[in-house]
Amino acid sequence: MKICSLSIFAVFFAISVLAEPPSVEKIAENELPSLLAIYKDIHSHPELSAHEEHTSALIAKQLRAAGCAVTEHFGIYNKPELKGYGVIGIMKNGDGPTVLVRTDMDALPVEEETGLPYASKITTKNDEGKDVPVMHACGHDAHIAAFIGTARALAKLKDHWHGTIMFVAQPAEETGNGARALLKAGLYTQFGKPDFALGFHDKADLVTGHIGVTEGYTYANVDSVDITVRGMGGHGAYPHKTKDPIVLSAEIINALQTIASRENNPLDPIVVTVGSIHGGTKHNIIPDEVKMQLTVRTYKADVRERVLAAIDRIAKGCATVAGVPPERTPIMTLRKDEFCPATYNNPELTKRLVAVWKKSLGNENVEIVDPTMGGEDFSEYSLPDHSIPAVDFHIGAVDPVKIADSKKTGTPLPSLHSSKFAPVPEPTIRIGVIGMTDAVLELMKK
Ligand SMILES: [Zn+2]
Ligand SMILES: [Zn+2]
Repeated sequence: MKICSLSIFAVFFAISVLAEPPSVEKIAENELPSLLAIYKDIHSHPELSAHEEHTSALIAKQLRAAGCAVTEHFGIYNKPELKGYGVIGIMKNGDGPTVLVRTDMDALPVEEETGLPYASKITTKNDEGKDVPVMHACGHDAHIAAFIGTARALAKLKDHWHGTIMFVAQPAEETGNGARALLKAGLYTQFGKPDFALGFHDKADLVTGHIGVTEGYTYANVDSVDITVRGMGGHGAYPHKTKDPIVLSAEIINALQTIASRENNPLDPIVVTVGSIHGGTKHNIIPDEVKMQLTVRTYKADVRERVLAAIDRIAKGCATVAGVPPERTPIMTLRKDEFCPATYNNPELTKRLVAVWKKSLGNENVEIVDPTMGGEDFSEYSLPDHSIPAVDFHIGAVDPVKIADSKKTGTPLPSLHSSKFAPVPEPTIRIGVIGMTDAVLELMKK
């Protein structure tokens, strides 16, 4: 009798344990050792943009193991010599919404100086054939580990969501053309247009365990502009017989500063940076032309149009004032292939996810952070008119002691892309898995 009642109790206990939904935190904790091993493997074997051959194969294998239908070698670049290494993993679970979850996977031509035991020692040839070191200096390796952890967690939580998850491992984020290559290859025509798009990025000044997010614009439109300033060259001793493009370039560069300071509404952030200027060969020769390269950052589409038009107008206007004949007017070229649109976090969706994260992580672990004038091609997934609600959130990656020290001493912490930057892996991956899994569950819950 006693044995019988004990066994009934055991059955009840087992049923009640089974009915309890497994916590996302618990799943993340259990997966961490394996995700950490994946992270270290990828960290020590980084690959440059559009060369993510081994990284993408590893991700494909992991997504398959998590139960996704996987398509590899996805993506078509405008440059036909580049191979698409995109990986799309589809996890179906009945009818319901489609949610896109994105990780990036490329590394940078940086020589690692973190001193970590799993630091990269890899060198490779870049697309120009030059030997370069390679490092995951932007933390995309941590994104990959958290992305795989999210796929594993959601596979285990299938009783709690319905619909289709589109896991997208995107190549070439650093060169700004990877998302476009996937869309060009038919991401949305082949796999369906998602109802929501979610992405994450580690943040080099956010403490581990925290999620940071910005409502509205979070990254800028990025335009790359070339200007060829043409003059009429000659001997350095006889400037009166020339039209000097070097002096003219100096005038143009100074006048460009008035776009931000005098022409633009100060409430609309913009940046116009001349990052490169080349002209001339020798002390005593006035050259025929000077070449300049600019990066132009804006948020709103109409502001972007006005700033680009102002650059063209100022360059040509300065040339006219300098007496350069019309046939030698400056040539401004917008590198359309390199354009990266602004990332806009849908305000309603952001508010919804902030509420979810505050509930699961605690109010103190969710921060509203400032937008930046950096660029991120995650924006492509919400399409040009932001018609697909999207959120790209930040995951904390830095030891809180280091942040406190940096505030005290004024010594800046290594930024993303620094040879000394590396996230603290365990808590960064953990918060990535929890933050992304919670977000997907909220949008797909039964
Ligand atoms: Zn980066
Ligand atoms: Zn990055």
